[in-house]
Amino acid sequence: MSSPLQHDRIPLLAETDILVAGAGSAGCCAALAASASGRHRVLLVERYGFAGGSSTQMLDTFYGFFTPGEFPRKVVGGLPDRVVDTLDRAGAIFLRPNTYGAGTGVNYNPERLKLVWDELLAAAGVRVLLHATLVDARAGADGGLREVIISTKRGFFRIAARRFIDASGDADLCHLAGFPCEKAGELEPAQTLTTIFRMSNVDLAAYEAAGGRKMLVQRMTEAVERGTHALPRKTGSLHPMNAVGCISTVAVRVADVDATDFEQLAAAEAEGRRQAFVYEQFFRDCVPGFAAANIIGLSHQIGVRETRRVYGEYRLTREDCLNAARFSDRVLLCGAPIEDHRSLPGGGEETVWGYVPDGGAYDVPYRTLVPRGREETWVVGRCFSATHDAHASCRSMAQTMAMGQAAGTAARLSLEQDCGARAVPVAELQARLRAEGAVLELPAKRAFTAAAEWRKNREAAT
Ligand SMILES: Cc1cc2nc3c(=O)[nH]c(=O)nc-3n(C[C@H](O)[C@H](O)[C@H](O)COP(=O)(O)OP(=O)(O)OC[C@H]3O[C@@H](n4cnc5c(N)ncnc54)[C@H](O)[C@@H]3O)c2cc1C
Repeated sequence: MSSPLQHDRIPLLAETDILVAGAGSAGCCAALAASASGRHRVLLVERYGFAGGSSTQMLDTFYGFFTPGEFPRKVVGGLPDRVVDTLDRAGAIFLRPNTYGAGTGVNYNPERLKLVWDELLAAAGVRVLLHATLVDARAGADGGLREVIISTKRGFFRIAARRFIDASGDADLCHLAGFPCEKAGELEPAQTLTTIFRMSNVDLAAYEAAGGRKMLVQRMTEAVERGTHALPRKTGSLHPMNAVGCISTVAVRVADVDATDFEQLAAAEAEGRRQAFVYEQFFRDCVPGFAAANIIGLSHQIGVRETRRVYGEYRLTREDCLNAARFSDRVLLCGAPIEDHRSLPGGGEETVWGYVPDGGAYDVPYRTLVPRGREETWVVGRCFSATHDAHASCRSMAQTMAMGQAAGTAARLSLEQDCGARAVPVAELQARLRAEGAVLELPAKRAFTAAAEWRKNREAAT
């Protein structure tokens, strides 16, 4: 795409070996993996003032480490484990066992996680540019991507790099470079957006005694059907946080938004905030345990489930997920179900689920992380190469971290071996991932009950 920016007039800020765009769970892990040998300069660009993306902007539970079911399997390891371990040592995690939905979650303190990302990135020698938004990309004479432009309060800067990893969630880097992308909503309706809100002063014992989640859904349905509170839907969930008497929710829904359009996104932000306070009133009025509760935080921005997805060397499909597909170039596993938050005509929402058979997992091929025909770029996290349905399964943070680990390791390998992304020796990549603790073979089912048990499972798996 043609750029209105005159690159040659923009000062050069840095030359780096590997540039990672976006410091979400995928980008942080990509940067950590890319810098693991200490031989390469790695630069991470993030538009906000802290790392973590959705993991710290709005969420507090890693899903995707475990398959759902009575006897879960732990299907992600390595760097993502190191992130959880670091939180664990600070006393900032607990498990939320679950046999359904996305399976057992690893709940963490998101404010502590901001610090953990800072510390891990600093220890790895990654140069982190916060408050720096990537706004352009330019190719060299041979068509290979060569540099990006960032916008900061000090003005525009150029950064030249040899390898690029797009971890922006919205595929900003690939889009600006003109690589083909699908935009959510073009082929299937886009998933809805959700402002996460947190409440304090909740009497969770009273809530559970009154029936917990079952009672909550019943009260929501009554409120909608009787018209006492203008809730956007009859369902929604809450869970306890890593702080006494506090809960976090997934309840707000805002539909039909192109989240790459800043005006539509701004309207969605305002609508999300409005709905959150409708819920606050509903909780106080209708839900036992919430009479004195109040909102203590809204997510840093409204949660966006999908926007652009890059067309890669392979595109993960619904059939791959539901048939537990095996690929010889696998770089991570995923056992999370397809979880599609769809808006219904005339209002309301349904969540459509599709499970991997027998509590299993499918392989995610390396080729889904390589934009089609590119040699210098990888794409990880929310914008990797998948169809709408496959993305609705493979988007939990354990998987996005594992993608980052795979792409960062591949980028490092491509520099060491002086080869392009498509020529990276996959057997060598897999050997390195295994050596770092990544899970590439489906482990046995195990029973577990607590964080200590999780650690035991992890140690056994690595
Ligand atoms: C409402 C909601 C609830 C969810 N619940 C869960 C859950 O409970 N557990 C779970 O595991 N998953 C959950 N998910 C899915 C999960 O949050 C995401 O799929 C995952 O976090 C994506 O990680 P990412 O690193 O790819 O993207 P992000 O976390 O979005 O990170 C992208 C980063 O890039 C930055 N960025 C973007 N554009 C630019 C730019 N141009 N320049 C510089 N920086 C840029 C962003 O600020 C951000 O830090 C949920 C998603 C939503 C929307």
